[in-house]
Parts: sequence; structure tokens; C-alpha cells
Amino acid sequence: MTLTIPFDNSYARLPDGFFARQKPEPVRAPRLVAFNEPLAKILGVSADDVQDLAQIFAGNTVPDGAEPLAQLYSGHQFGHYNPQLGDGRAVLLGETVGTDGVRRDIQLKGSGRTPFSRQGDGRAWLGPVLREYVVSEAMHALGIPTTRALAAVETGEIVLREGPMPGAVLTRVARSHLRVGTFQVFAARGQFDRLRQLTDYAIARHYPDAEGPMGLLRAVRDAQARLIPAWMSVGFIHGVMNTDNCAISGETIDYGPCAFMDSYHPNTVYSSIDRMGRYAYSNQPDIAVWNLAQLATALIQQVEDKEAAVEEATEIVHAMPDLMQQHWLERFRAKIGLSTAEDGDLQLVSDLLTRMAQNQADFTNTFRALPGDKARDQFTDPEAFDSWSVLWRARLQRESASEQTMTAANPAFTPRNHRVEQMIQAAVGGDYDPFHRLSTALLRPYEDQPENVDLTRPPAESEVVQATFCGT
Ligand code: AMP
Ligand code: MG
Repeated sequence: MTLTIPFDNSYARLPDGFFARQKPEPVRAPRLVAFNEPLAKILGVSADDVQDLAQIFAGNTVPDGAEPLAQLYSGHQFGHYNPQLGDGRAVLLGETVGTDGVRRDIQLKGSGRTPFSRQGDGRAWLGPVLREYVVSEAMHALGIPTTRALAAVETGEIVLREGPMPGAVLTRVARSHLRVGTFQVFAARGQFDRLRQLTDYAIARHYPDAEGPMGLLRAVRDAQARLIPAWMSVGFIHGVMNTDNCAISGETIDYGPCAFMDSYHPNTVYSSIDRMGRYAYSNQPDIAVWNLAQLATALIQQVEDKEAAVEEATEIVHAMPDLMQQHWLERFRAKIGLSTAEDGDLQLVSDLLTRMAQNQADFTNTFRALPGDKARDQFTDPEAFDSWSVLWRARLQRESASEQTMTAANPAFTPRNHRVEQMIQAAVGGDYDPFHRLSTALLRPYEDQPENVDLTRPPAESEVVQATFCGT
């Protein structure tokens, strides 16, 4: 009766400079609180003993074939370069190649101190662990590339944050944990052999058709240029788009102070640490370009012919805004039921968004209500919607199947902040029912679920969450 994980590790084969070998630190009394069986199946993980699972996903037992390590990286945090970050509270157990042929990392987050912990305790508390579990799985169900959650355990230990909090460990699964910051650290240190090795590794793992560093840059650009408009189409604000939180794979990574918007405004910020609004909703495309420019700067260091590389990198980065704009428009066209393209579409979408912002319209519910023409109820002045609707209806005349297009592009369910907070509060008090209910509803975000209609409602005034915290 043991858990079997068919490890096939590649990162651990890289030379020592890429990581520090580090076992997870055991915890006192692990208790499994969530296990993602469908994901386990894809990974090839077979499990039949819950006691076993708790021990492994808490880090108390290192499973056969794991080669635990903490990865080195650096990164720009809020625009300032931090020369050394790295996994300060996480260890990579290893990789599996899933039943779908995809290689994925299995990482424990909150698993104790590592050589990269700096002042941190290496731990996580239950709130952020459950938040990441719920929100990353919701993101996956929405069809948006993301890291995933395999398991969550309570550690039976206390961690100190704003006060004493229950400790927890999340098992995170990702196509890899390579970040822009993984490249930056070797570029900044002048370790160009390592930079070359990392580039080859990233190409082989993620973009086998890419040629050389500039080919990799182009591939990452394309993946990021799809990802950010996908976020925006569901009202998602990442909250900490630092270069160490920008994955080369194009997956959403690091669910710290992230949030889904309730009422729409382009300048919305939730993160308590983002005082300047650097990572506000509508700033996300600009930041993605800025992050790509940092990757370009790092990748160029390994190239002999710098002049040509700078020219090519500049062209690649400069093309990103247009590319993102195209994907954005494609997403929002679908949201208003358009499957064909016409010149006035951008104007039509922008006009709707402007009116939504002026009328505190709920982002998710407005789009979801478009087919039935109930969207007007979302506006403080419903006539602001009506006058837009006239133009929209005229445009829809030249469309077929617009209802199906809209239903598939406009989820009914997103993990609303107040629901996430309520779920966390309940779990801290030992009640996991809201966690299970929320997780289950979010598995089918595009379906009407009458029994869960309360989960689609925006927060009452007393429920509004003003700020989200990194406090992991
Ligand atoms: P994040 O903002 O979550 O991406 O984290 C930025 C850096 O801080 C990473 O290097 C983390 O490993 C590190 N870090 C965050 N929380 C802790 C903690 N509790 N203990 C040690 N390192 C941490
Ligand atoms: Mg991070």
C-alpha cells in the first residue's frame, strides 16, 4: 500500500549551479485536506492510502524516485532587480511524464527552509494554500494555461503571519518552473555557459521547434501574448507579475494576491503591496512586454553577434503589443457573440467596457447575461446599456450562432474574492464544506448550476474584500 509516482527527472540532471539539493523539512502532524484525483490520473500517480498521501504531500516521506531540490532564480520585483531569489519555501520533488505525454514538475510549496529562504521561514499558511488550490484549478477549468494543484495538507504546526495561523503545504504541478528570472540570474552573473545550457533545456522541454535563443524568445512571446488576453477575458488580475512569476511555459504561475474582478474598472488593483498600481488589470499587457524585454536582455548575453541579436530581439519584443491586441480582440469578440471580424468591432467592445466602468457593472455577470438581454440590470443606469445594445444588435444581424459563441466565452462562475475569503475562514475553523462546494462548482464554470447561483453573486457591501495579501 504505497503511493507510486513514476518520476522521470530531468532538471536534477543539470549541473549543480542550477539548484541546491534540499529535502523537505518534516512537519508534526500532517493531515490531507485535498487531493486532486483526476490530475493524479493524468500524472500517473496511483494512490490508495490516505495516510500515505498526507505523509508524502507534507514532505515527511520522500517518495521513491524523487530527487528533491530548490531551484535558483532571480528577478525584477516591482521593477527592481533582486539578484537572488530562488525557491525559498518550495522544493521540486521531480517530474513525471503524464498519460498525455506531457512532462510536469511536482513541487511542494511551504515545505520548509532552503538555502534561498533569506529571512523567510520556508512555510505557508492554510489561507494562501487553499486560495492557490481553488483559483488555479478554476483557471484550468476556464481553459486557461496554469499550474495546477495536486494536493493540500495541513501540517499540524503553527506559522506566524499577522498572527498565529495553521500551517499547510500545497503540491503544485507545472509544465516547468522555469521563469524569466531563471535566465536572468545566470545572465546577471555572467555565467554564460549555464545560460546556454538553460536555453537548450528550455527549448527541448517546451519549444522543440524553436531555434536558438531568439527562437526561444519568440516562442515565449507567443505563449505570453495568448495568456494575458485570456486572463483579461475573465477579469483576472494576477497581482504580482514580477519576472520571477512569469513562466517560460506560458502558464499562469504564483497565485499570491490575485483576484477576479467583481465590478469592472480598468484600474482595479487588489494586491495590498501594489501601491502604485503597477499590476493593475489594464496594465497587464504592458507589464508582459516589459517582462519579455527582460528575458530578451538575458538571452542576448549568450549570443556572439550581439548587434544582430539585439536587432532581432527588438523586433520580437516590439511585435508583442499588436499580437496581444489581436488575441484580446479575438477573446472579446467572442464574448459579445462575434465569430467574424469587422472593422468596427474594437470600437464596439471598447464602448461596452467604458459603459461598464462608468456603471459599476459586474464583469462576469454582465457578459454572462448578454444573450438574454438581462445585462442591462448590471448597470447603475440601464439605459447606458440599452443605447450600446442597439449598435450591438445591428452588428449581430451579420452573425449566426452568437448565443453559443457567448456561452462558451462567458463563464457563469469565477472564484470571487469574497467567496475565496469565506472559504478560507471556514477552513481555518475546521469546516471544509465551503472549500469543497466552491471547488466543485468551479469545475464547470460555463454551465448554469441553479443550486450554486449564490456563488455567482457579487459581494454584499459587508463582504467586499478590499485587498488581497501576499502573506504566504
Ligand atoms: P513570491 O512573491 O511568492 O513569488 O516570492 C518571492 C520570493 O520570496 C521567492 O524567492 C520565494 O521563495 C520567497 N519567499 C516567499 N515567502 C517565503 C517564506 N515564507 N519563506 C522563505 N522564502 C519565501
Ligand atoms: Mg514567486
